Amino acid sequence: MKKIAKEKLALLWELLAHKATLYFPLQEDGAVNFAPWKNGAQVDFGVNSIVPPKNVFFPQAETYLRFKTGAKRLQLESVEPEEKFILFGVRPCDLASFNILDKIFLEEPTDGLYAKRRRLGTLVSMGCNEPGETCFCTSFALEPAFAPGADVMVWDMGEFLLWEPRSTKGEALTAVINELLDEAAPEETAAAVRLRDTTAAGEAAAARQRGWNTEGLQEALRGKFNDELWEKLYHRCLGCGICTYLCPTCHCFDIQDFSRDLEGERFSCWDSCMFAEFTLMTSGENPRPTQKERVRQRFLHKLLYFPSKFGLYACVGCGRCVRKCPVHLDITQVIKEAGGVVSGS
Ligand code: SF4
Ligand code: SF4
Repeated sequence: MKKIAKEKLALLWELLAHKATLYFPLQEDGAVNFAPWKNGAQVDFGVNSIVPPKNVFFPQAETYLRFKTGAKRLQLESVEPEEKFILFGVRPCDLASFNILDKIFLEEPTDGLYAKRRRLGTLVSMGCNEPGETCFCTSFALEPAFAPGADVMVWDMGEFLLWEPRSTKGEALTAVINELLDEAAPEETAAAVRLRDTTAAGEAAAARQRGWNTEGLQEALRGKFNDELWEKLYHRCLGCGICTYLCPTCHCFDIQDFSRDLEGERFSCWDSCMFAEFTLMTSGENPRPTQKERVRQRFLHKLLYFPSKFGLYACVGCGRCVRKCPVHLDITQVIKEAGGVVSGS
């Protein structure tokens, strides 16, 4: 394993930014979000970003086709991503969300834009030293301080970052910055392993203290389609969609055309199952006519339908929806009330 001293980080950012667009969690106006780094930008690894980094692969709004019409002719021009990029400082929960998005966008029919970005991107994940109050990734068998699927795994050890390449892309990136790296001593490597164990144990203990886990959850949710739980929960939902926009695994989108005179563009933009129009048909029929059906859909999709189809939950326990829902409609409350068994009880 390698390490890089913190005083060399400014050099590291510059070196990497010359090779590819470099995304970091950046502090701006009191908020941390992933954005392309430029000189003077304030990198902040201290808290997870408000908006998840899924928007680097699956942009919030994206033009993918331009068109012009003329006399009897229609000209089409597709717009494709070309730039290589490095996504640096992704938390393990957010990295796990890419596996979930892959199930949607890489299986047939493949989404070409998403697939291309997955090829163009190199993922550097940073382990959590201290999971946040609303985090519960261990409930979904994830680790706060380790991300399978990362090209490079990095741990903040105080004076330095430990650096472990974990894929061919990660090895290539390491070769680029080799002059800045030193060999880590065995006791420093051992400290990273201890960090992994203690953060995972700490978060798992916090989940137990909250009184729920996900063992047996799918079984518990089967047959709850008409349960009074949804009746109880939905009244306070405002239908604002914040929970879905900020969720790293939510992947629904709409397609719209914008045109003026004889030219225009086609773009995709994030959509939300929490909106009344989401399932509204042109006939006026709506199979999810009230917020009750929409709230139920969101939770059952994440916790029952998606795992039944793909074998993994569509929640990585990042806690963003728990923090940001204005009325505290909390997925952990749903898990608990639906009957998820308390681990170890
Ligand atoms: S964030 Fe809360 S209030 Fe807004 S749609 Fe989601 S559950 Fe409803
Ligand atoms: S449902 Fe909530 S906790 Fe789970 S991944 Fe989405 S935002 Fe994070």
